Amino acid sequence: MTILENYTQKLFNKSIDACNDAELYKALLDITRDKSRELPTHDDKKKLYYFSAEFLIGKLLSNNLLNLGIYDEVNAELQAHGKSIMDIEQAENEPSLGNGGLGRLAACFVDSITKLGINGDGVGLNYHFGLFRQVFKDNQQTTIPDAWLTGDDWTIQSKKAYTVPFRKFSLHSTLYDIDVLGYKQTKRNRLRLFDLDSVTSDIIEDGISFDKHDIEKNLTLFLYPDDSDHAGEVLRIYQQYFMVSNGAQLILEEAVAKGSNLHDLADYAVIQINDTHPALVIPEMIRLLGERGIEFDEAVEIVRSMTAFTNHTILAEALEKWPVSFLEEVIPNVMAIIRNLDARIKAQFPDNDAVQIIDQFDRVHMAHLSIHYGFSVNGVAALHTDILKKSELRAFYEIYPEKFNNKTNGITFRRWIMDANKELSDYIDSLIGRKWHHTAELEGLLNYVNDQAVLDKLESIKFNNKLRLKHFLKEVQGVDINENSIFDIQIKRMHEYKRQQMNALYVINKYLDIKAGNIPATPLTVFFGGKAAPAYTIAQDVIHLILTLSQVIANDPEVSPHLQLVMIENYNVERAQYLIPACNISEQISLASKEASGTGNMKFMLNGALTLGTEDGANVEIHELVGDDNIYIFGKHSDEIIKLYETQGYVARDYYEHDAIRPLVDFIVSDKMLAAGNEERLNRLHHELISKDWFMTLIDLEEYIQVKEKMLADYENRTEWNKKALINIAKAGFFSSDRTIAEYNRDIWHLKENRVEID
Ligand SMILES: *Cc1c(COP(=O)(O)O)cnc(C)c1O
Repeated sequence: MTILENYTQKLFNKSIDACNDAELYKALLDITRDKSRELPTHDDKKKLYYFSAEFLIGKLLSNNLLNLGIYDEVNAELQAHGKSIMDIEQAENEPSLGNGGLGRLAACFVDSITKLGINGDGVGLNYHFGLFRQVFKDNQQTTIPDAWLTGDDWTIQSKKAYTVPFRKFSLHSTLYDIDVLGYKQTKRNRLRLFDLDSVTSDIIEDGISFDKHDIEKNLTLFLYPDDSDHAGEVLRIYQQYFMVSNGAQLILEEAVAKGSNLHDLADYAVIQINDTHPALVIPEMIRLLGERGIEFDEAVEIVRSMTAFTNHTILAEALEKWPVSFLEEVIPNVMAIIRNLDARIKAQFPDNDAVQIIDQFDRVHMAHLSIHYGFSVNGVAALHTDILKKSELRAFYEIYPEKFNNKTNGITFRRWIMDANKELSDYIDSLIGRKWHHTAELEGLLNYVNDQAVLDKLESIKFNNKLRLKHFLKEVQGVDINENSIFDIQIKRMHEYKRQQMNALYVINKYLDIKAGNIPATPLTVFFGGKAAPAYTIAQDVIHLILTLSQVIANDPEVSPHLQLVMIENYNVERAQYLIPACNISEQISLASKEASGTGNMKFMLNGALTLGTEDGANVEIHELVGDDNIYIFGKHSDEIIKLYETQGYVARDYYEHDAIRPLVDFIVSDKMLAAGNEERLNRLHHELISKDWFMTLIDLEEYIQVKEKMLADYENRTEWNKKALINIAKAGFFSSDRTIAEYNRDIWHLKENRVEID
């Protein structure tokens, strides 16, 4: 009897053939969990604790089978019974414990940490509902809770429990673990997700709204649905403190068990804080060390020597600044420590307002706290780190140049090519062998740039992925797409700085162009996907624009054979895994200086899409790697944009007055659009673009249209196009998160690596 048969018999008393997909899922879940539990955890003295409010892990079944090295075997057995892993995985609820790039980065990082054999756990919260599920109704986004903890999930309750003291009460936590497997590794790490037994979905009122005041019932109920949603700030502080207090207690317990006398705690633990959401771990660890008899000054130095901070954004609204009064209300003891830490800075740098922790408006700057009281500050792409040093955090860089370092983001190749694009992955194996599974070295592919058979094969793999996406979208969303069209994709959170609205204006341009009789050589399908924070009105208006436009185009028989606009509902990791392998044009068009890194750009490149992008975030590094001929770059540079903000030099109306732009913007409020859409939303967005346009949509629009047209024309020479695609794949190795993590380890963590590179 095979292992799978064994489990189906044991669980359901059935043969494989008699099981439905949900039963097979359950059997595979149990097999995978049991097999992971057989792997030991690390016992090295020093350990990394990667603190993050988000881990956007996505579905785990096929990924874990892959990392265990049994994917092919299991898949073959299922196929012999007429089943497929992809169908069975439909039964798994996606754990959407993150909003977007930041949370997905944390998920890629724990995968790579484990792959490199580093002793390191992720620390976070066990949200009962991850990011909301997005449903479109009347061309607008509606939101419903997305449950993932069904019993048949990946969490395993541990015996650890701590008490977290708030001003009004103390709460007792429960710890749930999710095993993290590394590709072909012999040891595992864990996600340590803290929860509260008293949390209940009874207090959900309507959609995703709930009683924000009943902390005991709501603390871990929902993931905070964005940085720009200011409702529930006090609850957010409760969540953050609950996460870090539990995490700090876990660190102390594990270190002491291994023999630490606490004075030497930094020899046992290093903490990486993923953005400022876990920054309260600094005062909390100082507090806990104080309770255990360590003098304040020494505790400060211990914590400073073991805490490192990653900055993810320069967007002012996303840099956390908590009012002192909020912190007083929730955690006065911790606030007292922050006041002390602030007083030290005020004494040391009396005339330097830019570096104070508590500002003149009585707000606590969490990034400033993290920089002063940590030993490392890193940005997430070369350009981003440069901007931090030169402008955003310049005052800090002048004080602590040695703390600043860059760690360009990466993605795990296990999920983003070996799992998401198995056909391409297997084909690469056949060309250059399997060593790249461990080293991400893909440059051997450059030997094939003039090999027509290889280029044709790339084309056919892309086509198969388009078909796969077509069937998936038909099933989940009921839309029909043209597999013979160019797939042009922009998928990411909805935000003005990412400029989905600029892409929508391009689609309007194309629509009007086709109406004027200019028929494209190859049909074009433009895909958008992304969720908008519920409180972010303009982002909701952009979703509405896209959905309304999509309807207008679909209903126009002159245009619809040549142009289709599709807004993917509920964009998440699973959707990304279907969309990215099918893509030709990767839209990375943020306003220069605003996208710290981006990681979507890397996923697309790795899967053979060509980037259409601004010189922003990691696009700059993609550009350097592939060269001018293999990327499509446009737009103003970051230094110009930064200057325009400083001088308030951008006037949207000046651009609107251009003959090439006005008709596109005005189409938003044309009779056709108003007939199909919501007047208030369309008018508001139109007005916004003309009168304010904070993220400068119109500044790059004309050049964007030109470069995109050039790109579409270039697609007609498929050999040249596929050559470029191959070069992009070959140069993507740099963006493996294994490389990123090796750099974190070399420069910041200094832990032992135990690489296993047998395949
Ligand atoms: C990679 C990823 C992101 C980040 O995309 P960007 O284009 O870098 O903003 C967001 N959401 C999901 C589901 C992802 O997989």
